[in-house]
Amino acid sequence: MGQDQTKQQIEKGLKLYQSNDTEKALYVWMKVLRKTSDPGGKFRVLGCLITAHSEMGKYKEMLQFSLAQINTAREMEDPDYLTEGYLNLARSNEKLCDFQKTVSYCETCLNMQGTTVSLQLNGQVCLSMGNAYLGLSVFQKALVSYEKALRYAHNNDDKMLECRVCCSLGNFYIQLKDFEKALFFPCKAAELVNDYGKGWSLKYRAMSQYHMSVAYKKLMRLPDAMECCEESMKIALQHGDRPLQALCLLNFADIHRCQKDVDKAFPRYESSMCIMSEIGNRLGQASIYVGVGKCWILQKEYDKALDSLQRANDLAEAIGNKLCILKVHSLCEGIYRCKEQQEELREQVVKFLQCVEELELYCGMCGESIGEKNQQLQALPCSHIFHLKCLQTNGTKGCPKCHRSSVKLGFV
Ligand SMILES: [Zn+2]
Ligand SMILES: [Zn+2]
Repeated sequence: MGQDQTKQQIEKGLKLYQSNDTEKALYVWMKVLRKTSDPGGKFRVLGCLITAHSEMGKYKEMLQFSLAQINTAREMEDPDYLTEGYLNLARSNEKLCDFQKTVSYCETCLNMQGTTVSLQLNGQVCLSMGNAYLGLSVFQKALVSYEKALRYAHNNDDKMLECRVCCSLGNFYIQLKDFEKALFFPCKAAELVNDYGKGWSLKYRAMSQYHMSVAYKKLMRLPDAMECCEESMKIALQHGDRPLQALCLLNFADIHRCQKDVDKAFPRYESSMCIMSEIGNRLGQASIYVGVGKCWILQKEYDKALDSLQRANDLAEAIGNKLCILKVHSLCEGIYRCKEQQEELREQVVKFLQCVEELELYCGMCGESIGEKNQQLQALPCSHIFHLKCLQTNGTKGCPKCHRSSVKLGFV
C-alpha cells in the first residue's frame, strides 16, 4: 500500500469513526497498519488507533500502539513525530494510573524543544503532566502545570485544550474542596463548548457536564447534579465511551449515597466497578471502595466499612494517591471512635496527621488546614495555595511559603 492509498484509507476510517461505526473504522485502520509501506502514514494510522482505543477505555492496547508509534518515529528520525509519540505514551500511562511514568514521559517531551510541532503539543503535555501530579496528590506542581497549559491554550487560541484544562481544574478544586471554583471551571468549559464547539466531538460536552455534576453534588445541589450526570451518561452511552460511563455511574452512586439511599447506591457502585476494573482505572476503583465504605458507615456496618476502606487504601498506595490514603485514615478514625477502640484510633490519628504534613495541606498564613471543608482558596502566581480570606486580610506582599514577591493573584 503506497502513500496515496494509505491516506485514502485513513480518511475512510475517520469517516466511519465519526459516524460511530467504530468497529469498521478499526478494521480499516488495522489493515492500513499491516499493509502500508509509507512510514508517515503508519505513524498517522497509529495515532488514529491510539485515540480510538483511548476513547473506548482500552488503555493497554493504547499503550502498545503508542510504543509502536515511537518505534516508527525513531526509524524516521523525526523529532516532531517522536515528541508526539512520547505524548501518547505519557497519556496511556496517565490513563493506566502510572503517574510517575506519565510525569517522566512528559518531561521527555518538554526536553525535545525547538520544533514547531512540539511547541503546539506543549500545552497538551502540560495538561497530562498536571493530571499526573494531581493523581499523585502533588497539588502545587499540578497547578503549575495547569497554568502553563492554560497559557499555551490562550496563546494558540486552542479552545479545545482550554476546555479540557478547565475540566481538570474542576477536578483539582474538588479535591482541595473549594467547591465554588470546582463548579466555576467546568461551567467555563461548558460555555466554551456552547460558543465554539459546533464542530467538536460531543465528548467535550459530556465531559464538562460530568465535572459540573460532581461539583453540584459537593454543593449538595443534588437535582442539578442528577441532571448534568444524566446528560453526560446519555452521550457516553451513545458514543460507547466506557471510561465516562464508569465515572457517571460512580457519581450517580455518590449522589444516591448523599440522599442516604444506599439501596440505590450499591448497585451503581457495582456497575461502575465492573467497568473500572475492565479498563484498568485503579484510582476510580479506589474511589468506589471509599464510597462503598461510606455506605457501610451509614448502615453502621463498621467491619464491612473497614474492609472496603482497606481495599481503597491498598489501591491508593499502589498508585501513590496520597489524598485517598488520607481520606481512608480520616474515615477509619471515625469508625474506631464509634467502636471505642482507643489503640486503633490513635494509630489512625497519627497516620492521618502524617498525610496532612506530607501533602502540605495547610494555609501558609493561618496555618490551618486546606481541603478539610468547603472553603474559598486562592493561588499566588507561584502556585502556592492559601485561604482567600487570609490573602484578603494579610494582603499579598509576598508568598510566605516561598518568599517570592507577588503583586497580583494568580488567575486560577
Ligand atoms: Zn488561611
Ligand atoms: Zn509561593
